[in-house]
Amino acid sequence: MRAYQKENLSRFPDYWNRPVAGSGPSAALTIIGLAPGLHGANKTGIPFTGDASGILLFKVLKQLGIVNQVRITNAVKCAPPQNKPLTSERKNCQKFLREELTDIRERSGPSVLFCLGRIAHEEVLRSLGQNLKDCAFGHGRVHKLSEALWLVDSYHCSRYNIQTNRLTESMFRTALQCAAKLAQLNHADI
Ligand code: URA
Repeated sequence: MRAYQKENLSRFPDYWNRPVAGSGPSAALTIIGLAPGLHGANKTGIPFTGDASGILLFKVLKQLGIVNQVRITNAVKCAPPQNKPLTSERKNCQKFLREELTDIRERSGPSVLFCLGRIAHEEVLRSLGQNLKDCAFGHGRVHKLSEALWLVDSYHCSRYNIQTNRLTESMFRTALQCAAKLAQLNHADI
């Protein structure tokens, strides 16, 4: 077991402190975050629950009326030290993300991968065997990867990005609404 996980087990014995699996069935819209937050998903065992990122994500999903129509997962499955996954952690988790994305590709109809932040964007492309140079990360960018597969980028909905105004709630809602439209979800036009 990694030293950091061991440390968290003794500091926070009531926390989940294990890899966090994606939540929800295979869906037309998959949201891919960075990694479990130490006091969020690492505590609860469910992606994007228990911290500020999750509060904003679920608020906007509810506003759009799509909260029950999405799958939510992370590029890296265990909480990383300082919330910054090492290259080795990113590499180790690629096989899990690849498996999840294979499932998605086997769906019929459109599939949209909504990537929260550059790391999620890069790991999704690597897992799909796509060239990173062909798809530059940028908030609100839409990349058509194949006939029925899109990647939509957003800045991460972290407390830091909101507090520094890098991302506003309205910017986030617009990007997520664009992803929901491409996925042909039954969403609210707010
Ligand atoms: N919680 C998650 O599960 N992932 C993130 O990227 C942030 C918070």
